[in-house]
Amino acid sequence: MASPFLETPIEFLKGVGSTRAEVLKKELNIATFGDLLLFFPFRYSDRTKFHRIADIQDDSTYVQLKARLVRIQMAGTAPHQRLVGTIRDESGEMEVIWFQGIKWVLEMLTPQQEYIVFGKPALFNGRWNISHPELEIPSLKPLPLSERVRPIYNSTEKLKSKGLDFKGIGKLVKNLLLNEKFTVPENLTPAILDNLRLLGRQQAFVNIHFPQSPELLKKALTRLKFEELFFIQLRLAKQRSGRLEKHNGHRFLKIGNYVNQFYHHHLSFELTNAQKRVIKEIRADLGSGNQMNRLLQGDVGSGKTLVALMTMLIALDNGYQSCLMAPTEILAKQHFNTITAMLTGLNVTVRLLTGNSKTAGRREIHTGLLSGEVQLLIGTHALLEEKVQFRHLGLVVIDEQHRFGVAQRAKLWEKNVITPHILVMTATPIPRTLAMTLYGDLDTSIIDEMPPGRKSIVTRHLFEPDHGKVFHFIRDKIGEGKQVYMVYPLIKESETLDLKNLVDGYQHVIQEFPAPQYAVSMVHGKMKQQEKDAEMKRFLNRETQIMVATTVIEVGVDIPNATVMVIENAERFGLSQLHQLRGRVGRGGDQSYCLLISSYELSAEARKRIATMVRTTDGFEIAETDLQIRGPGDLQGTQQSGILDLRIADLVKDEKILKYARNVASDIIIEDPHLAKPENDILARHLQQMDRNQQNWGLIS
Ligand code: ADP
Ligand code: MG
Repeated sequence: MASPFLETPIEFLKGVGSTRAEVLKKELNIATFGDLLLFFPFRYSDRTKFHRIADIQDDSTYVQLKARLVRIQMAGTAPHQRLVGTIRDESGEMEVIWFQGIKWVLEMLTPQQEYIVFGKPALFNGRWNISHPELEIPSLKPLPLSERVRPIYNSTEKLKSKGLDFKGIGKLVKNLLLNEKFTVPENLTPAILDNLRLLGRQQAFVNIHFPQSPELLKKALTRLKFEELFFIQLRLAKQRSGRLEKHNGHRFLKIGNYVNQFYHHHLSFELTNAQKRVIKEIRADLGSGNQMNRLLQGDVGSGKTLVALMTMLIALDNGYQSCLMAPTEILAKQHFNTITAMLTGLNVTVRLLTGNSKTAGRREIHTGLLSGEVQLLIGTHALLEEKVQFRHLGLVVIDEQHRFGVAQRAKLWEKNVITPHILVMTATPIPRTLAMTLYGDLDTSIIDEMPPGRKSIVTRHLFEPDHGKVFHFIRDKIGEGKQVYMVYPLIKESETLDLKNLVDGYQHVIQEFPAPQYAVSMVHGKMKQQEKDAEMKRFLNRETQIMVATTVIEVGVDIPNATVMVIENAERFGLSQLHQLRGRVGRGGDQSYCLLISSYELSAEARKRIATMVRTTDGFEIAETDLQIRGPGDLQGTQQSGILDLRIADLVKDEKILKYARNVASDIIIEDPHLAKPENDILARHLQQMDRNQQNWGLIS
């Protein structure tokens, strides 16, 4: 089904030629007809709708005005000479400016003529103007539907200098669509097209560029979004079904000594209902004979680690080793410490392996893993090294915290003849739509209940002048024997500035909390691991009352006696980061507090983030809000996945289409797991094409 037409090099398109072909390639990665077809407009303007000059108040979008050119004159002297026009509508006046092509523009324009003015407003000296607008004399006849909606394409300075502003690009696209050989092969089955009343593919492409009507534009968008999401879901459904079909999971049916002993004699508390439910789900997986591939979602402190531990003990009871991989050394160590402590007296051999493990220790671990003597291995990425070989690895737990890419996981699986069971834990809940796409081939368990006795963390938003109050509060809490975190932001661009920020903060804190009455710890990314560990230890042993830190403490640390989290410059933190930080307190039975300190100057987004933190402690709600504010591309962990390079669909706005796509895909795979039926051949071939192109969309086949 390859389409030679769409693979034609772009220089052969009418209106392109070799110079433009080169800039198109360099600037927009457009090398073929197909690439151009996939360069969608980023927005559309309705040529029958007009802004009023007085209403212009931001520079984020293009505006279309209907205004009279009341004046036009040269200003400045060479080389800063420019042409300045004044336009007026019934609401007000503004300037339009040209820096280039002045002679030509002057010839074109007629003073006192009414124009349709189109361009991007910018604020200059406190006033709005538009430079290099597009001017057009309004048509006397009403616009035909097919000309009402006009596509706006992204362009760059380089492209513009070659005559390829959004209008120029539009012309090229038009040339492509009007080419007599223009065809786009369909890639969905007639059944899908009929059932969902989707536009045919060719018609969708035509209408996404040059909508014949606003309705057809909508249909074109729906069709192409569906297509994009559908093939992702189809691939995931096929992978999942393939995995289940192979029936090659270890079958863990036994509940033996390890689990029983631990559960009845070592566990000092009752499991929450959510934990019990999730363990049941996991047991069903482990006993099914299929390989488990499960995502365990649960807020910070909801007791995921415990569930993971129970799962590892089931593996042990069935004679298999387990490993647990954490994203950072601190977290790996902490898992090691908690797990060793919880297993005291159970006679389980647990080892820790990180990048910093000494060679001798490493060797011993390698041998122990091969002989089967090491039963539980905990560590960082170091677990993925070639030398780490198990005698019989039955279970891999990945404490992901949004930090591992999906690709890295595969590496672990490949090591074994029979793929071990996989349990992925994430602490920051993932919004549903994202989970469906990012982890669509995993089954999901959710711990949506906190262990009993946890008090909800009190969160307050304060401003810099409130520092006096904050220190007073801290003094009270320290007086009650509690400990305090004070976190400073990390600015990626300037590590030295970060450090200065932190050190200034530290100076301020020790002035307020002087020795010998108080002791203050400091931890930051520039310190050596040993120094960090030593400081953490002092804090853990209550030798210090205040821990001044950057976000290095974000992941992991579990110190129940610390009940106050102060976050300085809270406006600089992302929502999920704030949530993670807050999760460091409230880990014991005492009332905990999170104080978010910001300056008075807040962007709308920062205000929304802080307000969300104050309003709720529900991680799922926070994750959804985060997705809405930032879009999926910016969420931690999504970048590596590649899955989210969505060209047209939007995981926030297109949830409904996503659900459709998912249902349709899963129905098809249930009926025809290998896409072997003749009617599904068209789908199978498109999937193959996508794999070849190494892209989700891989559209032009
Ligand atoms: P997570 O890994 O989800 O952040 P943890 O497993 O570290 O959470 O649990 C947080 C704390 O709560 C730990 O100190 C753990 O021992 C405790 N905990 C876990 N489950 C329960 C429970 N059912 N009842 C009481 N405490 C629990
Ligand atoms: Mg944890």
